[in-house]
Amino acid sequence: MTNIYQPTPANLDLAAQAIKDGKLVSFPTDTVYGLGADVYNSSAVANIFKAKERPLFDPLISHIADIDFLKEYVETDDRAVALAKHFWPGPLTFVLKRKDNNPAVDLACAGLPSLAVRMPNHPVALELIRKSGVPIVAPSANRFKTISPTTAQHVYEDLQGKIPMILDGGAVTIGLESTIVDLTEEIPTILRPGFI
Ligand code: AMP
Ligand code: MG
Repeated sequence: MTNIYQPTPANLDLAAQAIKDGKLVSFPTDTVYGLGADVYNSSAVANIFKAKERPLFDPLISHIADIDFLKEYVETDDRAVALAKHFWPGPLTFVLKRKDNNPAVDLACAGLPSLAVRMPNHPVALELIRKSGVPIVAPSANRFKTISPTTAQHVYEDLQGKIPMILDGGAVTIGLESTIVDLTEEIPTILRPGFI
């Protein structure tokens, strides 16, 4: 059964507890509605792939709420920090070398030695990440190859019965995916064009 919740402080606590318990929570970001799970909980991450019918070789983006968290699990450098300070929170995703060899994260990264990460510019997303205390992997909250959702109602129509909880933050403003830049090599490469 899928329920839609207003993002009150009490409901954000509930949602954060659900993330900690390994459940999936859909929440608004600045780009589209995401389908979130604790990056360190591989069975929760597996359920994202299942709910979305997304192939396991397609890696997910981790969402963080604090730049300091970057150095805990990826190799950062001056470029990443400068770009983060300029564009975060916002729709720019970095691919960086993984530092954390925690096998629980393998599934989220599709086994790659790198990890995609960004800080979304949405108060509900940031509060949920802070309260959960972990990076939240969150692809768009829709089945693979369908249109990315920009309202809680879209998410409900696409994923009802497959996820327990949707946080309703109203219509999201961008409706377009984040720009992805690969910083694992000396020369940065744009892997996916997006809002930035
Ligand atoms: P999304 O579908 O918006 O969740 O974005 C996920 C996309 O980010 C994937 O389809 C990849 O294109 C890209 N991505 C995520 N992680 C990596 C990574 N480690 N290396 C390269 N691209 C990645
Ligand atoms: Mg998508």
